[in-house]
Amino acid sequence: MCYNLIVKRIIVSEKQKALLIKKRRRLLKQISELSPFIKGSLSRLYRICGAKNCACKKGGNKHEALYLTWKEDCKTKSLYVPVEMHKETIQWVQNYKKLKTLIKKLSSLQQDILRLR
Ligand SMILES: [Zn+2]
Repeated sequence: MCYNLIVKRIIVSEKQKALLIKKRRRLLKQISELSPFIKGSLSRLYRICGAKNCACKKGGNKHEALYLTWKEDCKTKSLYVPVEMHKETIQWVQNYKKLKTLIKKLSSLQQDILRLR
């Protein structure tokens, strides 16, 4: 193989690697800037409460309850989310999804770096 061609290939490869490393830096920054996250999905249930004279027992609106559910050791687990924590828990769940996407992108980028010679 011609020497110039080899040098050209190395330069192209170095440029690609530098670009990938720049992308990686950006992704790592995005990951570090994510606020708290939590694994699971949220589901809303409508329930009748335990209060004797509550309207929910007389056909009125039922009480909305938010639950976080996730799989652990092949079992579905769930956790009640207190009303005052709905907003932040929704944000945590969204952050977890973002984190998963970022991790996939980062892993794929790492594979691209490995492919470069
Ligand atoms: Zn009630």
